[in-house]
Amino acid sequence: MYLILLGPPGTGKGTQAKRIAERLGLLHIATGDMFREAVQQDSELGRLAKSYMDRGELVPDEVTIAMVEERIDQPDAREGAIFDGYPRTLEQARALDEALRRRDKAVDIALHVTASDDVIVRRLSGRWLCDGCGEIYHEQHRPPKQESKCDGCDGQLKQRADDKPAVVRERLRHQRPSVELLAHYRDRDDLVDIDGEGDIDAVTRDLLAAIEKIKATVR
Ligand code: ADP
Ligand code: ADP
Ligand code: ZN
Repeated sequence: MYLILLGPPGTGKGTQAKRIAERLGLLHIATGDMFREAVQQDSELGRLAKSYMDRGELVPDEVTIAMVEERIDQPDAREGAIFDGYPRTLEQARALDEALRRRDKAVDIALHVTASDDVIVRRLSGRWLCDGCGEIYHEQHRPPKQESKCDGCDGQLKQRADDKPAVVRERLRHQRPSVELLAHYRDRDDLVDIDGEGDIDAVTRDLLAAIEKIKATVR
């Protein structure tokens, strides 16, 4: 199965993708995480991506598409994956269709997670990430047991530089799924809208229910 999670920054895509990947035994492919790893390694890709991420803009399609194609060529992606934060443009959506088609596969469902701007801003301003395992926390909604320490791996929790209010505004300006991107999936009945404003468990339930519904039809 190949699932994709669409939605503006901060709607809970990463949180939900981790849970669904675990529940369904799917590989989790998060382009934001891949770019952050490249930045940490200070690779050529990382330096290029950073210049866009710092401004709240999208990394160019060409670079992003090449990175994802390399990832889905790995053996662990053969049985399926959940894409989190990809595709974000129509160009990326077309490239993904084509890449999967070449492998005799297809996107089975696109889950569009929505939330109001107020909710998004509150979520991003309280977000903390583990620098060891990437687990996602929130000051109010998903606090760690011990302040600044990851429950799972004891790693240090950090805030993302691009979760500062000024960059969040830019991300909301540049990174909402476009009408064209949503139409790409809606037009072929692959799109399901999910209300992302409920608590974390409620959103997971809604996502899993939508996935169950189409699972019967999947090869
Ligand atoms: P969020 O969790 O806020 O949705 P991500 O962690 O997914 O953000 O992405 C962080 C940054 O990485 C984005 O602001 C953007 O610069 C870049 N990025 C991630 N995915 C893509 C993509 N599919 N296309 C272009 N840029 C991307
Ligand atoms: P995205 O990947 O879409 O940017 P994240 O999964 O990183 O979103 O979530 C953004 C922040 O909101 C994190 O701090 C996360 O703990 C918190 N969060 C995610 N889902 C919910 C929810 N349903 N209710 C409350 N907080 C949430
Ligand atoms: Zn951790």
